[in-house]
Amino acid sequence: MKRKMLQNVAVAAGVAGLMALTTIPEDQDISRQVGDYFEEVRRDPLLLTTFFTAMPKGGDLHHHFSGSMYGETYWQILSDHDGWINTSTVDVDTPGVAHTLPWKRFTALPRDARFDSLKQAFLRTVSAKDYEVSLRPSDEHFFGTFGKMSFIASFGMEQGLRELRQRAVSENVQYIETQTGQPDMRINLPENEGWEKSLEGVSLKDSLAVFGILDKLRDSLLAHGATHWADSCRRRMAEVHRNANVDDSTFMVRYQLSASRAGAPLSVYRRLLLAFEIADRDSLVVGVNLVSREDGEVSMRDYQLHMLMFAHLDRSYYRRVPYSLHAGELTAGMVRPEQLRTHITEAVMVAGARRIGHGVDIAYESAWKPLLDLMARKKIAIEINLSSNEFILKVKNEQHPVLLYFTRKVPVVISTDDAGVLRTDLTRQYVLLATRYPSLHYADIKQMVRNSIRYSFIKPAVVKEQKLRELDAAFARFEQQVLRHRAR
Ligand SMILES: [Zn+2]
Repeated sequence: MKRKMLQNVAVAAGVAGLMALTTIPEDQDISRQVGDYFEEVRRDPLLLTTFFTAMPKGGDLHHHFSGSMYGETYWQILSDHDGWINTSTVDVDTPGVAHTLPWKRFTALPRDARFDSLKQAFLRTVSAKDYEVSLRPSDEHFFGTFGKMSFIASFGMEQGLRELRQRAVSENVQYIETQTGQPDMRINLPENEGWEKSLEGVSLKDSLAVFGILDKLRDSLLAHGATHWADSCRRRMAEVHRNANVDDSTFMVRYQLSASRAGAPLSVYRRLLLAFEIADRDSLVVGVNLVSREDGEVSMRDYQLHMLMFAHLDRSYYRRVPYSLHAGELTAGMVRPEQLRTHITEAVMVAGARRIGHGVDIAYESAWKPLLDLMARKKIAIEINLSSNEFILKVKNEQHPVLLYFTRKVPVVISTDDAGVLRTDLTRQYVLLATRYPSLHYADIKQMVRNSIRYSFIKPAVVKEQKLRELDAAFARFEQQVLRHRAR
């Protein structure tokens, strides 16, 4: 069978290809020889880049929609729709609002060198392009970009999705799971303040008391039309997804919805409930997450409460909805040492996360060993974001725990986090991985790529199986290509 496939490829490749193919072995030997070639090129950043560009990369399971769009796309959206720009601060706005000088419409901008320098200034504001550490701390710069751009991302979502698809396809990524939006419902609960007070006042040691409050809060939100808001949000997302026209037989986008952990407890719960309601019934929304900086004042204060919210929603109502949690996106010096001890543990053991995003402070967790054993046993994947951790946390090379997870047999997946803000892509993440960690070989990296489909939230299971088969077929083609190239 394999021989037949090779012959077919050979016919298609022509006589030169056939001559090269005669030297190509079969079965695992092909993979082993590709591994040899990989070892030859891993110290050559350019050849390594060509290798990883062509290598099938499965899915990108951890990235944020607005942070994945490049500044150039935002600029294009604003130009296409004649949006606003403040020519002093380079803040931007959508066309449907009114502004006065120094704000200008895009059509009123001179199309000369000033236009280009304004564009460059804009790109520097919304990304790490030409970033100067002396002007602003990198974490502040990074998180500051979201407030500037996320509303433009919603405005130009179809264009943004097309950009993400185009990049993914061009670097051989077959699936992306995009964190998009934190929808809320326009429901004014009677006794809003009462809910806030009871959520802020409850003892977190008494999880049953917390669950009791959350049960009543959920009942009240459902009685006031939460399901209606979930349906309307689903319709809106389906329409955008359809209009963007990004799915086909070779590529697929699915979504995670989230809540900002910087919000007040009631606001976080409302958004989580809506996200779970949607993900429970929708085929496009496959998971839930928590976003915003983990070391923020409110995020740190309410961390345990947020974990209990997930435990409550999962165990009482939405067992079918999987979620990944940003946890341990912290490092020494960022917070007090004792605040580095439990976040990943709680995300896994209390909240029941199916995947962990970042997990950088694992070595500081009090229960790091049993936690890693549990993650390995229960196949709780870790989403590794090398460029992001380097830029925001200043953690890289041997300080980064990717090998700690890997050697303890926790499933590792490689992702981008915010390719647009960080001016990177998934290929670059694999180049960094191979360059920084020489103990990882081709077979290990191939396994990580397979993990990115296996531990994705793709549903139903039959579709995931299909994607895995497609990935295996893509690897077979890639490996033959590499050996053909090597034989020349
Ligand atoms: Zn993230």
